[in-house]
Amino acid sequence: MEKQFDGKRALVTGAGKGIGRDVAKELVKCGAVTYALSRTQSDLDSLKEEVPDIHTIAVDLADWDATQKAVESIGPIDLLVNNAGINIPEPMLEIKKESYDSIMNINVRSCIQVSQIVAKTMVSRKCGGAIVNLSSQASMIALTNHAVYSASKASIDAITKNMAFELGPHKIRCNAVNPTVVLTELGKRSWSAPERSGPLINRIPLRKFAEVEDVVNAVIFLLSDKAAMISGTCLPVDGGFLIA
Ligand code: NDP
Repeated sequence: MEKQFDGKRALVTGAGKGIGRDVAKELVKCGAVTYALSRTQSDLDSLKEEVPDIHTIAVDLADWDATQKAVESIGPIDLLVNNAGINIPEPMLEIKKESYDSIMNINVRSCIQVSQIVAKTMVSRKCGGAIVNLSSQASMIALTNHAVYSASKASIDAITKNMAFELGPHKIRCNAVNPTVVLTELGKRSWSAPERSGPLINRIPLRKFAEVEDVVNAVIFLLSDKAAMISGTCLPVDGGFLIA
C-alpha cells in the first residue's frame, strides 16, 4: 500500500458504518493520522478494535454546540471527508417538518459547520488541504420518496462548488462524489426489495449498484495529489446512470 498520506491528518464524519468506515480504514492504510467521528459509540469501539491506530470521536452532528467542541478539539486537519448522512424517505405530500430538519441538519448544516472549523485552520496554517463531500446521484435526478434527501444532496453539490471557489485561493481543493445506490444500511433501507432495486439497476448502463470500495476509491483519489488540479467537481460513481 502506497503511504501517500504520510504526515497528513484526516477527519471522516459518519465513520461508524458503511462508506465512511471504509474510507477511514483506507486513510489509515495510506498513512494518515485518522480521526473517525460518528454517533454510535459501539461502532467506534469496534472500529478501534479493528484498527487500533485510529482515533475515534463520538458526537451527534445534529447538536451544533457539541459538534463545535468536538471538532475544534481535534486540532489541525489536512484531509476532510464530510460523509455523515441520513435519509428519511417520505412521499412529497407527507413530508414532516421533523424529517426535513433532521435531514438538512445532518446532511447539509453539519457539512458546512465541520468544513468551516477545519478550513479555518487550513487557512491560518497556510498549508492548503483537500475536502471531499458525500453527495449522491439523487442530487441530479428525482427518485420516489426522496424529495428532501435529493434537496440535501443538491445543496451539497452547490456547497462543494462554492467552497472550491472561495477556498481555492488558499490552496484548499473541494470536491464531491455522487454515488448510485450502495447497499449499506442506508442503501438497504430504500433499495433492498427486488421490486425497488430491479427497475433502478435496469436503468444503470453497467447493470449493477456500486460497492463501498468503488466510492472509497473515488474519495481517496480526490483527496490525493493525483487530483491536484481537480476542484469543484461533482463526480458520479454511478455506472453511467446519470448519462441516460
Ligand atoms: P450508513 O447509514 O451506512 O452510515 C452512515 C454513518 O453516518 C453511520 O456511521 C451513522 O452513525 C453516521 N451518522 C449519521 N447521522 C449522524 C449524526 N447525526 N452524527 C454523527 N454521525 C452520524 O450510510 P452510508 O455509508 O450508505 O452513507 C454515507 C454517505 O454516502 C451519506 O452521506 C449518504 O447520503 C451517501 N450516499 C449513500 C448512498 C447509498 O446508497 N448508501 C448513495 C449515495 C450517497 P449512526 O448509525 O450511529 O447514526
